[in-house]
Amino acid sequence: MDIESIKRDIIFYGLEIKRVGLVVGTWGNISARYEDKVLITPSGIPYEKLSPEDIVICDLNCNVLEGRHIPSTELSTHVEIYKHRDDVKSIIHTHSIYASAIAVTRKNIPAIIEDMAMIIGGEVPCAKYAFPGTMDLAENVLEVLENKNAVLLANHGAISMGRSIKEAFNVCQILEKSAQIYIFATQIGMPKPLAIEEVEKMREIYLNKYSKNDEAK
Ligand code: 13P
Ligand code: ZN
Repeated sequence: MDIESIKRDIIFYGLEIKRVGLVVGTWGNISARYEDKVLITPSGIPYEKLSPEDIVICDLNCNVLEGRHIPSTELSTHVEIYKHRDDVKSIIHTHSIYASAIAVTRKNIPAIIEDMAMIIGGEVPCAKYAFPGTMDLAENVLEVLENKNAVLLANHGAISMGRSIKEAFNVCQILEKSAQIYIFATQIGMPKPLAIEEVEKMREIYLNKYSKNDEAK
């Protein structure tokens, strides 16, 4: 995929996260990695107003290489994740309601449901609180991320990621759905998490088989 198509995809999925209610206003942000560069949404500009020239291109030291706006204030968290996870090609930060409800309790979401185990890779950890847009926040995310595709941000929201922008968008939605199920289930009783071996098996199937069906279309 070339840089221009990635910019168009960032804009498309920005409109999608807004349409499905994962963000409100200008909050949240989306990035994608292209070789040793990071393409990211500008800070504080409405998703509906973005055109390809508004997407900011940065290097892995957070320097702006191209763009007429300042990059998202969460650039350092995006960059630190890319530096530590070669498999991650896109990151989406949302302020979705159910994930945020759990994030204000500063609890993890246990691995409770099949699609969550497959696309996220198990339990979603909650990163310790740090002020938005800081290197401390990036460090707190890295502290708990491991090989998962989603992290809750205490009293803030969530970060989701994937091997493409489309996969990162699916992660955001499965994360929100899992958070909702977890909250609903706790009203009825104590949700029982999946066994770790089951989670690992499902993740393996997703990576090596199930997710490939979509690429084949
Ligand atoms: P930006 O508009 O700077 O991307 O910030 C939004 C946000 O969600 C900060 O955490
Ligand atoms: Zn935020």
